[in-house]
Amino acid sequence: MLTAAGLRHATTTRYCLRTPAGSAPFSVEARTAISGVEGDAGRVAFAGQVHGAGVVHAAGGGRLGEADVIVTTTAGQPLAVVTADCLPIVLYDPARPALALAHVGWRGTVKGATRAAVEALIALGADPSRILAAIGPSIGPCCYEVDRVVIDPLVAAFGPVDRWAVPHSDGKWMLDLWAANEAQLAASGVARANVHNARLCTSCRTHLFHSYRRGSRGRLVTLAQMPSAY
Ligand SMILES: [Zn+2]
Repeated sequence: MLTAAGLRHATTTRYCLRTPAGSAPFSVEARTAISGVEGDAGRVAFAGQVHGAGVVHAAGGGRLGEADVIVTTTAGQPLAVVTADCLPIVLYDPARPALALAHVGWRGTVKGATRAAVEALIALGADPSRILAAIGPSIGPCCYEVDRVVIDPLVAAFGPVDRWAVPHSDGKWMLDLWAANEAQLAASGVARANVHNARLCTSCRTHLFHSYRRGSRGRLVTLAQMPSAY
């Protein structure tokens, strides 16, 4: 979605590679697939995802510790996150240039991971008005039924969440994590016109994607790579 701005990024489907839950995201199999994207898969930077809002900076490949946001200004640097229902969010300022990749579920939403990603880019010299955002395949409001365990922390963090959560049945809501994170992007200064949401629900499309909620053991890999020359 951000390719027009010169950014290479993609999310795998369930057919691209088998990335079992709990494994290192870059098995030999995954490395082979990623090599087909561009360059040496060993250069891909990734983190141990912990459903938080921590940020790590990548200036080379490999595992960077525990974090759910990875940022870079290094030419040609590829970043990756793994998901299965959580939101993979790509953020890019083509003028700086600077790139961030975030893994955001409901816990990350509560902790402000998306806002943290924008702020990390701003700290690197990005201008939020220039930042382009892409939200990859993830669970949609059509399928994301939650209870108070999820709603209460959201209300504690953001106040009333009627705009994102629709009462569904007794003690249950349908939660729109896309809208919650689009709101976080807007509040961080990212223009709504610059936010591209594929609106591909992983739970609706289990023929294409892994969905944790639908019992899939696999994971999707979202990759984004800084341009090699700018
Ligand atoms: Zn759905």
